[in-house]
Amino acid sequence: PDEINVGELASRLKRTAADVIKELLKLGVMANISQTIDFDTAAIVAEEMGAKVEKEVHVTIEEKLFDESEDKEENLEPRSPVIVVMGHVDHGKTSLLDRIRKTDVAAGEAGGITQHIGAYRVKVNGRPITFLDTPGHAAFTSMRARGAKITDIAILVVAADDGIMPQTIEAINHAKAAEIPIIVAVNKIDKENADPDRVLQQLTEHGLVPEEWGGETIVCKISAKQGIGIENLLEMVLLTADMQELKANPNRQAKGAVIEAKLDRGRGPVATVLVQNGTLHAGDTVIAGKAVGRVRVMTDERGRKLENAGPSVPVEIIGLGEVPDAGDIFYAVDNERMARELVEQRKEKEKEERNKAMQKVTLENLFDTI
Ligand code: GDP
Ligand code: MG
Repeated sequence: PDEINVGELASRLKRTAADVIKELLKLGVMANISQTIDFDTAAIVAEEMGAKVEKEVHVTIEEKLFDESEDKEENLEPRSPVIVVMGHVDHGKTSLLDRIRKTDVAAGEAGGITQHIGAYRVKVNGRPITFLDTPGHAAFTSMRARGAKITDIAILVVAADDGIMPQTIEAINHAKAAEIPIIVAVNKIDKENADPDRVLQQLTEHGLVPEEWGGETIVCKISAKQGIGIENLLEMVLLTADMQELKANPNRQAKGAVIEAKLDRGRGPVATVLVQNGTLHAGDTVIAGKAVGRVRVMTDERGRKLENAGPSVPVEIIGLGEVPDAGDIFYAVDNERMARELVEQRKEKEKEERNKAMQKVTLENLFDTI
Protein backbone atom coordinates (compact mmCIF):
# COMPACT_ATOMS: atom_id res chain seq x y z
CA PRO A 1 0.00 0.00 0.00
CA ASP A 2 2.95 2.34 0.53
CA GLU A 3 4.52 1.60 -2.83
CA ILE A 4 3.50 1.07 -6.42
CA ASN A 5 5.14 -0.39 -9.47
CA VAL A 6 5.99 1.90 -12.38
CA GLY A 7 3.81 0.08 -14.92
CA GLU A 8 0.84 0.21 -12.55
CA LEU A 9 1.38 3.91 -11.85
CA ALA A 10 1.52 4.63 -15.58
CA SER A 11 -1.72 2.80 -16.27
CA ARG A 12 -3.47 4.58 -13.40
CA LEU A 13 -2.25 7.90 -14.80
CA LYS A 14 -3.38 6.73 -18.26
CA ARG A 15 0.10 7.45 -19.59
CA THR A 16 2.83 5.26 -21.01
CA ALA A 17 5.44 3.71 -18.78
CA ALA A 18 8.09 5.59 -20.79
CA ASP A 19 6.52 8.91 -19.78
CA VAL A 20 6.60 7.93 -16.13
CA ILE A 21 10.18 6.69 -16.37
CA LYS A 22 11.17 10.01 -17.98
CA GLU A 23 9.49 11.94 -15.18
CA LEU A 24 11.25 9.79 -12.62
CA LEU A 25 14.59 10.51 -14.25
CA LYS A 26 13.97 14.22 -13.75
CA LEU A 27 13.78 13.44 -10.05
CA GLY A 28 17.00 11.48 -10.30
CA VAL A 29 15.30 8.14 -9.92
CA MET A 30 16.29 5.38 -12.32
CA ALA A 31 13.56 2.80 -12.60
CA ASN A 32 12.26 0.31 -15.13
CA ILE A 33 8.67 -0.66 -15.75
CA SER A 34 8.56 -3.47 -13.23
CA GLN A 35 10.25 -1.68 -10.36
CA THR A 36 8.35 -0.34 -7.41
CA ILE A 37 8.67 3.20 -6.11
CA ASP A 38 7.49 4.55 -2.79
CA PHE A 39 4.30 6.48 -2.26
CA ASP A 40 5.93 9.90 -1.88
CA THR A 41 7.91 9.58 -5.13
CA ALA A 42 4.84 8.33 -6.97
CA ALA A 43 2.85 11.27 -5.66
CA ILE A 44 5.41 13.80 -6.94
CA VAL A 45 5.53 12.15 -10.36
CA ALA A 46 1.76 12.06 -10.58
CA GLU A 47 1.41 15.68 -9.60
CA GLU A 48 4.07 16.67 -12.12
CA MET A 49 1.94 14.89 -14.70
CA GLY A 50 -1.17 16.74 -13.63
CA ALA A 51 -2.87 14.18 -11.39
CA LYS A 52 -3.97 14.43 -7.81
CA VAL A 53 -2.91 11.63 -5.49
CA GLU A 54 -4.60 10.43 -2.40
CA LYS A 55 -3.36 7.76 -0.11
CA GLU A 56 -5.66 4.78 -0.09
CA VAL A 57 -6.83 4.13 3.41
CA HIS A 58 -6.90 0.47 4.20
CA VAL A 59 -9.82 -0.28 6.47
CA THR A 60 -9.54 -3.51 8.40
CA ILE A 61 -12.51 -5.69 9.15
CA GLU A 62 -12.09 -4.82 12.83
CA GLU A 63 -12.44 -1.13 12.06
CA LYS A 64 -15.57 -1.80 10.05
CA LEU A 65 -17.08 -4.05 12.68
CA PHE A 66 -16.24 -2.37 15.98
CA ASP A 67 -17.30 1.05 17.11
CA GLU A 68 -14.22 2.25 18.97
CA SER A 69 -15.18 5.91 18.95
CA GLU A 70 -14.47 7.79 22.11
CA ASP A 71 -17.38 8.77 24.32
CA LYS A 72 -18.35 12.38 24.63
CA GLU A 73 -18.24 13.65 28.20
CA GLU A 74 -21.98 14.38 28.19
CA ASN A 75 -22.79 10.75 27.37
CA LEU A 76 -20.90 9.36 30.35
CA GLU A 77 -22.68 8.18 33.48
CA PRO A 78 -21.30 6.96 36.81
CA ARG A 79 -20.60 3.23 36.99
CA SER A 80 -19.84 0.99 39.95
CA PRO A 81 -16.28 -0.18 40.74
CA VAL A 82 -14.80 -3.53 39.73
CA ILE A 83 -12.61 -5.11 42.39
CA VAL A 84 -10.02 -7.86 42.30
CA VAL A 85 -8.83 -9.61 45.47
CA MET A 86 -5.17 -10.59 45.38
CA GLY A 87 -2.59 -11.95 47.77
CA HIS A 88 -0.39 -14.85 48.76
CA VAL A 89 -1.83 -18.36 48.81
CA ASP A 90 -3.70 -19.22 52.02
CA HIS A 91 -3.81 -15.62 53.19
CA GLY A 92 -7.59 -15.66 52.90
CA LYS A 93 -8.71 -14.45 49.44
CA THR A 94 -11.40 -17.09 49.03
CA SER A 95 -12.54 -16.66 52.62
CA LEU A 96 -12.89 -12.93 52.11
CA LEU A 97 -14.83 -13.29 48.86
CA ASP A 98 -17.13 -15.84 50.55
CA ARG A 99 -17.62 -13.55 53.50
CA ILE A 100 -18.51 -10.59 51.30
CA ARG A 101 -21.02 -12.72 49.44
CA LYS A 102 -22.65 -13.72 52.73
CA THR A 103 -22.61 -10.14 54.02
CA ASP A 104 -24.76 -9.30 51.06
CA VAL A 105 -27.27 -12.04 51.82
CA ALA A 106 -27.41 -10.80 55.42
CA ALA A 107 -28.09 -7.33 54.09
CA GLY A 108 -31.27 -8.73 52.59
CA GLU A 109 -30.47 -8.72 48.90
CA ALA A 110 -33.21 -10.81 47.36
CA GLY A 111 -32.30 -14.24 46.09
CA GLY A 112 -28.78 -14.58 47.37
CA ILE A 113 -25.82 -15.59 45.26
CA THR A 114 -26.58 -19.06 44.05
CA GLN A 115 -24.09 -19.62 41.27
CA HIS A 116 -20.41 -19.30 40.77
CA ILE A 117 -20.07 -17.29 37.59
CA GLY A 118 -16.57 -15.87 38.19
CA ALA A 119 -17.80 -12.48 39.30
CA TYR A 120 -20.57 -11.13 41.48
CA ARG A 121 -22.12 -7.90 42.60
CA VAL A 122 -23.00 -6.94 46.16
CA LYS A 123 -24.67 -3.82 47.44
CA VAL A 124 -23.05 -1.73 50.15
CA ASN A 125 -25.13 1.16 51.46
CA GLY A 126 -27.34 0.65 48.44
CA ARG A 127 -24.47 0.91 45.99
CA PRO A 128 -23.27 -2.03 43.90
CA ILE A 129 -19.68 -3.25 43.89
CA THR A 130 -18.47 -5.87 41.41
CA PHE A 131 -16.03 -8.49 42.63
CA LEU A 132 -14.05 -10.71 40.33
CA ASP A 133 -14.10 -14.18 41.77
CA THR A 134 -11.71 -16.13 39.58
CA PRO A 135 -8.98 -18.35 40.96
CA GLY A 136 -5.43 -17.31 40.19
CA HIS A 137 -6.61 -14.00 38.76
CA ALA A 138 -6.53 -15.66 35.35
CA ALA A 139 -8.49 -12.92 33.69
CA PHE A 140 -6.56 -10.22 35.44
CA THR A 141 -3.18 -11.45 34.25
CA SER A 142 -4.19 -12.33 30.72
CA MET A 143 -5.96 -9.01 30.30
CA ARG A 144 -2.84 -7.27 31.46
CA ALA A 145 -0.86 -9.17 28.89
CA ARG A 146 -3.26 -7.76 26.30
CA GLY A 147 -2.85 -4.28 27.64
CA ALA A 148 -6.43 -3.97 28.77
CA LYS A 149 -7.70 -3.01 32.16
CA ILE A 150 -10.66 -4.65 33.82
CA THR A 151 -10.33 -3.80 37.49
CA ASP A 152 -10.52 -0.44 39.20
CA ILE A 153 -9.23 -1.32 42.66
CA ALA A 154 -7.20 -4.20 44.12
CA ILE A 155 -7.77 -5.51 47.61
CA LEU A 156 -4.48 -6.97 48.78
CA VAL A 157 -4.99 -9.63 51.41
CA VAL A 158 -2.05 -10.13 53.78
CA ALA A 159 -2.30 -12.61 56.64
CA ALA A 160 -1.35 -10.93 59.89
CA ASP A 161 0.41 -14.05 61.15
CA ASP A 162 2.46 -14.56 58.00
CA GLY A 163 3.24 -11.11 56.64
CA ILE A 164 4.32 -10.17 53.14
CA MET A 165 5.24 -13.19 51.02
CA PRO A 166 6.42 -13.60 47.38
CA GLN A 167 2.92 -13.61 45.87
CA THR A 168 2.06 -10.54 47.93
CA ILE A 169 4.91 -8.70 46.22
CA GLU A 170 3.83 -10.05 42.84
CA ALA A 171 0.33 -8.73 43.47
CA ILE A 172 1.67 -5.32 44.47
CA ASN A 173 3.65 -5.19 41.23
CA HIS A 174 0.61 -6.20 39.16
CA ALA A 175 -1.52 -3.47 40.69
CA LYS A 176 1.21 -0.88 40.28
CA ALA A 177 1.73 -1.82 36.63
CA ALA A 178 -2.02 -1.60 36.03
CA GLU A 179 -2.05 1.74 37.85
CA ILE A 180 -4.91 0.77 40.10
CA PRO A 181 -5.15 1.74 43.76
CA ILE A 182 -4.44 -0.89 46.39
CA ILE A 183 -6.45 -1.28 49.57
CA VAL A 184 -4.71 -3.56 52.03
CA ALA A 185 -6.74 -6.01 54.08
CA VAL A 186 -4.65 -7.32 56.95
CA ASN A 187 -6.45 -10.60 57.54
CA LYS A 188 -6.58 -13.19 60.32
CA ILE A 189 -6.35 -10.59 63.10
CA ASP A 190 -8.29 -13.07 65.24
CA LYS A 191 -5.28 -15.36 65.42
CA GLU A 192 -3.21 -15.47 68.56
CA ASN A 193 0.06 -14.95 66.74
CA ALA A 194 -1.29 -12.13 64.54
CA ASP A 195 1.12 -9.21 64.27
CA PRO A 196 -0.54 -6.45 62.23
CA ASP A 197 2.15 -3.92 63.10
CA ARG A 198 4.78 -6.08 61.50
CA VAL A 199 2.65 -6.15 58.31
CA LEU A 200 2.40 -2.35 58.34
CA GLN A 201 6.19 -2.16 58.64
CA GLN A 202 6.66 -4.55 55.72
CA LEU A 203 4.13 -2.66 53.58
CA THR A 204 6.10 0.52 54.14
CA GLU A 205 9.20 -1.23 52.90
CA HIS A 206 7.32 -1.94 49.67
CA GLY A 207 6.20 1.62 49.12
CA LEU A 208 2.75 1.24 50.65
CA VAL A 209 2.81 3.62 53.61
CA PRO A 210 -0.34 3.16 55.73
CA GLU A 211 -2.54 6.17 56.41
CA GLU A 212 -2.13 5.75 60.16
CA TRP A 213 1.59 6.21 59.61
CA GLY A 214 1.10 9.34 57.54
CA GLY A 215 1.01 7.66 54.14
CA GLU A 216 -1.73 7.22 51.55
CA THR A 217 -2.44 3.51 51.67
CA ILE A 218 -5.72 2.47 53.22
CA VAL A 219 -5.16 -0.50 55.50
CA CYS A 220 -8.09 -2.39 57.03
CA LYS A 221 -7.68 -4.97 59.75
CA ILE A 222 -10.07 -7.84 59.20
CA SER A 223 -10.92 -11.39 59.99
CA ALA A 224 -12.53 -13.03 57.00
CA LYS A 225 -13.26 -16.08 59.11
CA GLN A 226 -15.01 -14.26 61.96
CA GLY A 227 -16.48 -11.47 59.86
CA ILE A 228 -14.61 -8.66 61.60
CA GLY A 229 -13.97 -5.39 59.76
CA ILE A 230 -15.67 -6.42 56.50
CA GLU A 231 -18.17 -3.58 56.36
CA ASN A 232 -15.46 -1.03 57.00
CA LEU A 233 -13.37 -2.56 54.22
CA LEU A 234 -16.29 -2.30 51.79
CA GLU A 235 -16.88 1.30 52.77
CA MET A 236 -13.23 2.04 52.05
CA VAL A 237 -13.71 0.44 48.64
CA LEU A 238 -16.58 2.81 47.91
CA LEU A 239 -14.58 5.77 49.17
CA THR A 240 -11.66 4.89 46.90
CA ALA A 241 -14.05 4.38 43.99
CA ASP A 242 -15.58 7.80 44.56
CA MET A 243 -12.20 9.41 44.15
CA GLN A 244 -11.80 7.72 40.75
CA GLU A 245 -15.08 9.11 39.37
CA LEU A 246 -15.66 5.97 37.32
CA LYS A 247 -17.83 6.53 34.29
CA ALA A 248 -19.09 4.78 31.18
CA ASN A 249 -21.63 5.26 28.42
CA PRO A 250 -24.54 2.85 28.83
CA ASN A 251 -26.09 3.92 25.53
CA ARG A 252 -23.93 2.19 22.97
CA GLN A 253 -23.05 -1.32 21.90
CA ALA A 254 -21.43 -3.36 24.64
CA LYS A 255 -17.73 -3.94 24.94
CA GLY A 256 -16.05 -5.82 27.76
CA ALA A 257 -13.93 -8.74 28.85
CA VAL A 258 -14.33 -12.47 29.19
CA ILE A 259 -13.77 -13.34 32.86
CA GLU A 260 -14.05 -17.07 32.50
CA ALA A 261 -15.55 -19.57 30.09
CA LYS A 262 -16.22 -23.27 29.89
CA LEU A 263 -18.00 -25.88 27.89
CA ASP A 264 -21.15 -27.02 29.65
CA ARG A 265 -22.53 -30.40 28.65
CA GLY A 266 -26.11 -29.28 28.41
CA ARG A 267 -25.81 -25.62 27.58
CA GLY A 268 -22.74 -25.57 25.33
CA PRO A 269 -20.17 -22.78 25.64
CA VAL A 270 -20.85 -20.65 28.71
CA ALA A 271 -18.95 -17.44 29.30
CA THR A 272 -18.93 -14.94 32.13
CA VAL A 273 -18.34 -11.52 30.70
CA LEU A 274 -17.92 -8.18 32.35
CA VAL A 275 -19.56 -5.34 30.47
CA GLN A 276 -17.17 -2.40 30.60
CA ASN A 277 -18.91 0.05 28.32
CA GLY A 278 -22.28 0.16 26.63
CA THR A 279 -25.15 -2.20 27.36
CA LEU A 280 -25.36 -5.86 26.41
CA HIS A 281 -28.82 -7.05 25.42
CA ALA A 282 -30.26 -10.52 25.20
CA GLY A 283 -30.27 -11.35 21.49
CA ASP A 284 -27.16 -9.30 20.68
CA THR A 285 -24.56 -10.77 18.35
CA VAL A 286 -21.29 -11.03 20.21
CA ILE A 287 -17.73 -11.75 19.16
CA ALA A 288 -15.06 -12.70 21.71
CA GLY A 289 -11.67 -13.80 20.48
CA LYS A 290 -12.37 -16.73 18.14
CA ALA A 291 -15.93 -17.22 19.37
CA VAL A 292 -19.02 -15.69 17.84
CA GLY A 293 -22.73 -16.12 18.44
CA ARG A 294 -25.93 -14.58 19.62
CA VAL A 295 -26.69 -14.09 23.31
CA ARG A 296 -29.49 -16.61 23.85
CA VAL A 297 -29.67 -16.43 27.63
CA MET A 298 -28.09 -13.93 29.97
CA THR A 299 -28.11 -14.49 33.74
CA ASP A 300 -26.61 -12.88 36.83
CA GLU A 301 -24.93 -14.55 39.83
CA ARG A 302 -28.34 -15.09 41.38
CA GLY A 303 -29.50 -17.10 38.41
CA ARG A 304 -31.90 -14.36 37.33
CA LYS A 305 -32.48 -13.85 33.64
CA LEU A 306 -31.53 -10.41 32.42
CA GLU A 307 -32.59 -8.57 29.28
CA ASN A 308 -29.92 -5.88 29.64
CA ALA A 309 -26.56 -5.54 31.37
CA GLY A 310 -24.88 -2.15 31.60
CA PRO A 311 -21.34 -1.05 32.54
CA SER A 312 -19.61 -2.91 35.40
CA VAL A 313 -22.22 -5.68 35.34
CA PRO A 314 -20.94 -9.26 35.09
CA VAL A 315 -23.21 -11.75 33.36
CA GLU A 316 -23.12 -15.30 32.26
CA ILE A 317 -24.03 -15.70 28.62
CA ILE A 318 -25.04 -18.69 26.56
CA GLY A 319 -25.05 -18.68 22.79
CA LEU A 320 -21.45 -18.45 21.65
CA GLY A 321 -20.40 -21.01 19.07
CA GLU A 322 -17.30 -21.98 21.01
CA VAL A 323 -15.49 -21.34 24.26
CA PRO A 324 -13.57 -18.05 24.30
CA ASP A 325 -10.44 -17.53 26.41
CA ALA A 326 -10.40 -15.73 29.73
CA GLY A 327 -9.16 -12.25 28.99
CA ASP A 328 -10.61 -12.10 25.46
CA ILE A 329 -12.23 -8.79 24.66
CA PHE A 330 -15.85 -9.09 23.57
CA TYR A 331 -17.89 -6.79 21.39
CA ALA A 332 -21.56 -6.67 20.56
CA VAL A 333 -21.82 -6.09 16.81
CA ASP A 334 -24.42 -5.40 14.14
CA ASN A 335 -23.01 -7.48 11.37
CA GLU A 336 -22.98 -11.16 12.22
CA ARG A 337 -21.68 -12.21 8.81
CA MET A 338 -18.68 -9.92 9.12
CA ALA A 339 -18.07 -11.11 12.68
CA ARG A 340 -17.92 -14.70 11.41
CA GLU A 341 -15.51 -13.63 8.71
CA LEU A 342 -13.26 -12.00 11.32
CA VAL A 343 -13.31 -15.12 13.45
CA GLU A 344 -12.25 -17.14 10.39
CA GLN A 345 -9.42 -14.66 9.80
CA ARG A 346 -8.30 -14.96 13.40
CA LYS A 347 -8.34 -18.74 13.25
CA GLU A 348 -6.42 -18.70 9.98
CA LYS A 349 -3.82 -16.36 11.43
CA GLU A 350 -3.42 -18.52 14.50
CA LYS A 351 -2.94 -21.57 12.35
CA GLU A 352 -0.25 -19.79 10.32
CA GLU A 353 1.54 -18.73 13.47
CA ARG A 354 1.41 -22.25 14.81
CA ASN A 355 2.86 -23.58 11.58
CA LYS A 356 5.60 -20.98 11.63
CA ALA A 357 6.48 -21.86 15.20
CA MET A 358 6.57 -25.53 14.26
CA GLN A 359 8.84 -24.91 11.25
CA LYS A 360 11.15 -22.91 13.47
CA VAL A 361 11.36 -25.75 15.92
CA THR A 362 12.12 -28.20 13.14
CA LEU A 363 14.86 -25.96 11.80
CA GLU A 364 16.35 -25.57 15.23
CA ASN A 365 16.29 -29.30 15.71
CA LEU A 366 17.98 -29.65 12.36
CA PHE A 367 20.79 -27.33 13.38
CA ASP A 368 21.07 -29.13 16.67
CA THR A 369 21.79 -32.40 14.93
CA ILE A 370 24.32 -30.97 12.51
P1 GDP B 1 -6.60 -18.23 49.77
O1 GDP B 1 -5.62 -19.28 49.34
O2 GDP B 1 -5.94 -16.88 49.81
O3 GDP B 1 -7.85 -18.25 48.98
O4 GDP B 1 -6.94 -18.56 51.31
P2 GDP B 1 -8.24 -19.23 51.90
O5 GDP B 1 -9.38 -18.29 51.94
O6 GDP B 1 -8.45 -20.53 51.27
O7 GDP B 1 -7.77 -19.42 53.43
C1 GDP B 1 -6.68 -20.24 53.79
C2 GDP B 1 -6.88 -20.74 55.20
O8 GDP B 1 -6.89 -19.66 56.12
C3 GDP B 1 -8.21 -21.45 55.40
O9 GDP B 1 -8.02 -22.55 56.24
C4 GDP B 1 -9.08 -20.41 56.08
O10 GDP B 1 -10.06 -20.98 56.89
C5 GDP B 1 -8.07 -19.65 56.90
N1 GDP B 1 -8.48 -18.28 57.12
C6 GDP B 1 -8.87 -17.37 56.21
N2 GDP B 1 -9.20 -16.20 56.80
C7 GDP B 1 -9.00 -16.37 58.11
C8 GDP B 1 -9.16 -15.51 59.27
O11 GDP B 1 -9.57 -14.36 59.18
N3 GDP B 1 -8.82 -16.05 60.46
C9 GDP B 1 -8.37 -17.32 60.61
N4 GDP B 1 -8.08 -17.74 61.83
N5 GDP B 1 -8.24 -18.13 59.56
C10 GDP B 1 -8.54 -17.68 58.34
MG1 MG C 1 -8.38 -19.36 47.33
